Formats: sequence, C-alpha cells, structure tokens
Amino acid sequence: MYDAAANQENGWVDFKDFTVVKKEQESNVITSFYLQPKDGSGVTTYEPGQYLTIRVKIPGEEYTLNRQYSLSCAPGHDYYRISVKKEKDFDPNGKVSNYLHDHVNEGDTVEVSAPSGIFTLNMEETAPIALISGGVGLTPMMSMLETLADTGSKREIYFIHAARNEEFHAFKDDVEEITARLENGHAYYGYEKPLNANGDHHFEGYLSKSFLENIINEETITYICGPVPFLKNAVRILTELGVKDENIRYEFFGPAMDLKAEEKETVKA
Ligand SMILES: Cc1cc2nc3c(=O)[nH]c(=O)nc-3n(C[C@H](O)[C@H](O)[C@H](O)COP(=O)(O)OP(=O)(O)OC[C@H]3O[C@@H](n4cnc5c(N)ncnc54)[C@H](O)[C@@H]3O)c2cc1C
Repeated sequence: MYDAAANQENGWVDFKDFTVVKKEQESNVITSFYLQPKDGSGVTTYEPGQYLTIRVKIPGEEYTLNRQYSLSCAPGHDYYRISVKKEKDFDPNGKVSNYLHDHVNEGDTVEVSAPSGIFTLNMEETAPIALISGGVGLTPMMSMLETLADTGSKREIYFIHAARNEEFHAFKDDVEEITARLENGHAYYGYEKPLNANGDHHFEGYLSKSFLENIINEETITYICGPVPFLKNAVRILTELGVKDENIRYEFFGPAMDLKAEEKETVKA
C-alpha cells in the first residue's frame, strides 16, 4: 500500500508537511481542515472512503501522536479535507482532536501520511446504494457521495444520516447541494433528540427498521460508519431486511472488528 502511495504522481512515503489552508466549522463539534503540501506539490488522488494519518507534536506530550481521519470530500480537488470531531465528552478529553480544534489554525503545519484504507466505494457496481452514517461517521460518506455526483452516477443513491440533534448536524447544506446534482439522489436525516420536534427531519430517535424498510431492499449495497452501537443496530436491521452480507460494508473509527460475526454470535446465543 505504501509503495502504491509513493509511486503515484506527487506520492510520498512516511510523513510529509502539509499547511492548513482553511479551517471551517461544520457543526458544534465537527471542524474541517483543508490541507495542502507545504512544498507546493499537488496532492495524490485517493479512493473515496480512504483516510489520512495525521501526526502532531503536542507541547507537554513526550511522543508525537498519530490519528486517522477520513477524507471528507471527493478526490480531484487541489487539497485534502478532513473533518474532526472534538472528543470532549469524557475526562480526559481526546488529545489530538482537541489539539486540532483549539490550537491548529490556518497557516499551521501538520504532518500527513499518504491516503490509505480499504473501506472504499466500488465504482463498478450499479445497484442502489445507501450511505448510512451516525455522527462523525459521515466523513467517508461525504467523499463517496461527492464522488458519485462528480462522476455523473445514475444509481439510486440514498444518503442517510443520524445526528444527536440539529446542532450536531454537519454538512447539511453540502449534502443537499451534492444530492441535487445526482440524477437519483435522496438525502434523509434524523435526530436522536431533536431540539425542534416539529422541525425539518425524517426520523427521530434511533435509526429503525420501519424507517429503513421503505428505502432499502435486498439488492441495496450499503456502506455504514458510526459509533459501535449505531453500527450494530444498522447491521442487524439490514440483515433482517435481507441485505446480503457482502453488501453490508462498514467502518468503525477504532480498531477493526467483525460486527457481523458478533451479530451472528448474539443470534446464536
Ligand atoms: C480509519 C479511521 C478513520 C477515522 N476518521 C475520523 C474522522 O473522519 N473524524 C474524526 O473525528 N475521527 C476519525 N477517526 C477517529 C480518530 O482517529 C481519533 O481516534 C479521534 O479523533 C480521537 O482521538 P483523540 O486523540 O482526540 O482522543 P484520544 O486521546 O485518543 O482519546 C479517545 C477517547 O477516549 C477517551 N479517553 C482518553 N483517555 C481515556 C482514559 N484514560 N479513560 C477513559 N477514556 C479515555 C477520550 O476522552 C476520547 O473520547 C478515525 C479513526 C479511524 C481508525
């Protein structure tokens, strides 16, 4: 994988300095960082769904810290964009995400390794596709959605996003704009606890079977990303709706795990 990254035009091995050329708030907890190589070279292309590894040296920390962040826009721009959730719900707060939010600004440098990862959009397929995300899990889905629009896909495409409430809802306008460019694009979103119960959303509480069964059929190819309970719930519902195992593709923002195996164990027990 590293060789592939190095051999591409503008490719590199290990880490390279990138400048934060733009920093933009997307929701009350998610902020995007637009990155360009400090040496003035272009950016390598990547597959929608891949991530960058960011390395930072935080004052007071003995070692440099590496974290993965999915690319949150389609390839083809002259920058990379990552979108980082500020992890501040637990004590101690997340080190790198808080550092990026609070101390890394436009003009600053971060070290970046080349795009990597196997949770990627298969562009050969033509079946209906559902991009399903919870919270900051929408980042790889943004890249996939924009790529489908940029390549003029005629597939039935469903972007389904669950957020805690309206204030946590990132990329709402972007999703609307990108979906409008698609011939068969549909966007749905819902809130666990909406601030405005009569407001503009498609579901409330957790993503449910009764909601998804109107959208998903046995042929749908699904990509899912979000917190573990969200993933488990989505995998269970999709399995019940008859979606084939190979068409339930997911990523969790932590160490790899087999949720389907866990599901099967649970069912067996
Ligand atoms: C493939 C991949 C893609 C990813 N893409 C994204 C993305 O697009 N956007 C994004 O925001 N994140 C993404 N992540 C997650 C990201 O890499 C980081 O894990 C995340 O930002 C948290 O890092 P941190 O340094 O802020 O938190 P850490 O310091 O690593 O802490 C993680 C969590 O554990 C808690 N914690 C820390 N220490 C303790 C302790 N002693 N006891 C109990 N709790 C503790 C923290 O409060 C925090 O909530 C991705 C991860 C992977 C693997």
